[in-house]
Parts: sequence; structure tokens; C-alpha cells
Amino acid sequence: NSDFFFWGGGAIAEARSVLEHELETIRTGGTWKGERIITSKQGPHINVDGSRGDILNFCANNYLGLSSHPQVVEAGIEALKKYGAGLSSVRFICGTQDIHKDLEQKLAKFHEREECILYASCFDANAGLFEVLLGPDDAVLSDELNHASIIDGIRLCRAKRFRYKHMDLNDLETQLKQSQSSRMRLVVTDGVFSMDGDVAPLKGICDLAEQYGALVFIDECHATGFMGPRGRGTDELLGVMDRVHIVNSTLGKALGGAAGGYTVGPKPLIDLLRQRSRPYLFSNSLPPPVVGCATRAVELLLASNEIAQSVGAKTMRFRNKMTEAGFTISGSAHPICPVMLGDARLASLMADDMLKLGVYVIGFSYPVVPKGKARIRVQISAAHTDQDIDRAVDAFIQTGRKHGVVS
Ligand code: PLP
Repeated sequence: NSDFFFWGGGAIAEARSVLEHELETIRTGGTWKGERIITSKQGPHINVDGSRGDILNFCANNYLGLSSHPQVVEAGIEALKKYGAGLSSVRFICGTQDIHKDLEQKLAKFHEREECILYASCFDANAGLFEVLLGPDDAVLSDELNHASIIDGIRLCRAKRFRYKHMDLNDLETQLKQSQSSRMRLVVTDGVFSMDGDVAPLKGICDLAEQYGALVFIDECHATGFMGPRGRGTDELLGVMDRVHIVNSTLGKALGGAAGGYTVGPKPLIDLLRQRSRPYLFSNSLPPPVVGCATRAVELLLASNEIAQSVGAKTMRFRNKMTEAGFTISGSAHPICPVMLGDARLASLMADDMLKLGVYVIGFSYPVVPKGKARIRVQISAAHTDQDIDRAVDAFIQTGRKHGVVS
């Protein structure tokens, strides 16, 4: 707020000029990320500042529609009343409540792993893990398109780094051969890659890891809750739950959507993370209302497999109708449905036109996706009705025709 700051001369004037120059580079590069302001709760129908009426939302990670589920909201309110707004403490000083332990147990049970440790976000879980697990004698083998938080977490650790081509098992094997002399090796991949909605070839990865004596880690942010028959994730979907050793995931997407992340895996690893993991040791505990919401989301999923299955048919409805209309949708069968357009400007213009038709979608361009591979990333939620999906398809056809993408 300019009322409160005076950008005076000297060092601060120089900093201001450097920053303004950097901002201008982003603007002229066409990669400026604006933020639309939502004035309602998260869900398939939202209100957006500057747009009139009800807007159909197709860009949240609210895969199961639990973000505003009445039971999830109620559990958050109950936890707020009973346990307060927050802990004003990290976990090991005076920031652990019974609800934190309970949620950790439920998440370990959900993923069928020995133990769980909560973080303020999955970004933190990824920032904390690798440095604790791997030292200079070890090696990490990472898919080149892994999420930014994995890349940052790996940067913080002292293990030797090997990067394999995206989902390329031959290249992974080459890297495994090259890293043979390391003490411990960890293969690291997103379970589902968020820009394309493509699923890592976990069976092949586990086969290779076993052949070469490596551990396997997956980031399940875009899988937990709805991939696999019981929503346990891509490891369940691909039949390798007992062969993937460590899973990181988020509470901020399908599991209620509030915030928070976690690691599940072998007990000694989780015990060591509690002793050494920096984002855990030096950051506040998850707030009780957030814990309450996530706990109810996990309870709902533990009680019934129906919720996990609720997004599949909707996803296929959108994918099939869009393909029939002549659009190219990347990935397969995942609720992340990237509508491939190629040109960055086209993606952004089409997204703006979609909003004028009452459908909120976002264009993704470089550097978030490779140059020439701009797209509109549509995300389907179980809370969308068939009519919502059909309306979105109609809006795509209308704007697609206007811009010459489909005939
Ligand atoms: N990992 C992946 C693959 C993600 O997509 C995200 C979120 O965008 C994260 C980690 C970070 O999760 P969180 O929002 O809980 O920090």
C-alpha cells in the first residue's frame, strides 16, 4: 500500500528500479500471472470479482468437491471451537494436539504405510525429506519434469543428482547403472504430473528399482483421494502399494483443500524427520480447523470407496465430448484435462473469452509448460454436474471456433 511506504533515494531507489525492470520483463514476455479474485467459497460455482453472476469453475484441484463439503466445514468449525485458532508453536515445543496425532494415524492407515508426519504444506514435505534421508554418499534419480517443490527439496540435499528423461524407463536404467557405486539410491517421481495429467510408469520404475537396489518415492498431490479403486493413489491404481517406499502428498487438493502436507513411509524415516526435518522443526503446527477439515475428509474416504470413484465418469464425459469436438486433450483418464493450444497468446485470449461465457479456466504458458505447448488446463471435480460439464464444452466449442481452433 503506497500510503505506508516511502520509496526514498539511495539503496532503496536502486532496488526499486531493479525490481521494476524485472517486472517489466515479465509483462513484455507475456508471462505475467494475474490473480482473479473469488468472492465466494471454493466450488464448481463461484463468484468472481468483476464478472457478473454465477461462474463455472474448472481450475481448482478440488477433485472430490470436499473443499466446501458440509461435513468437512462442520468438522473445521468444531475443531476451531474446541482447539482454538492455532498453536503458536512448532510441534516439538507445545504444538502437538491429539488431533494432529489422530490425523497422522489415519493418513498412515489410508496409505497403508507404517507412519506419517504432518507438515504445513506438501511443498514443505518435499523441502524437508531429501536432506534428511540422503547424504553425500547417496544418489537421487529424478524425473526431469518433477514438481518445483521436489526440485527445490533435492537442491537442498547433498546427494549426487541424476535426472532422467520424463517417464523414460530406458533412461532411468542408464542412470541407475551410472549411480551404482552410491550407498543408497532414491528414484523420485510425481505419481501424476500436474501439467499434463500423465501417470508415472510406476510398475516399470519399481521393477528397475528392485533390480538395482533403489528406493522409490512418489509425490501424490494429484492422485491422493481419487486414483485407484479406493482412492489411495497411483500406487494403488498400478498395483504397487507395497513396492513404493515413501509417499508425500497434500491436504490442500482433494482432501478438503485447506492446507497441509505429509510424508508416509517407514517408521525410522518418519522418526528421523521429526528430529531433523527443517520445515517441520522450524515452522508452526497445522492449525486445528485445518486438521479438523482434513481429518473428516480422510474419514469420509476411509468409510466409503464411492467418493474416490465419483470423479471418473465426469472426467471421461469431458474428455470424450471435447475430443469429439476436435480438441486435443493431453494425458489419459485423469481429471486434469489439458486442452492443448500451442500458442501462449491464444491460450490466454481463449481463457478470457471463456470467462465472458461464464466459465473460469486458466491458460498455462512458458515457463510453467515448455515453449510452444501452451494450453488451458481444465480440472474436473466430482462436484460438477453433467450439465456443468456440457456447458463448459459448449463454451469451448464457441471460443474454439472464434479463434479457429476447431471448425
Ligand atoms: N507437489 C505437487 C505435484 C503439486 O502439484 C503441489 C501443489 O501445487 C505441491 C507438491 C505442493 O503442495 P502444497 O500446496 O501442499 O504445498
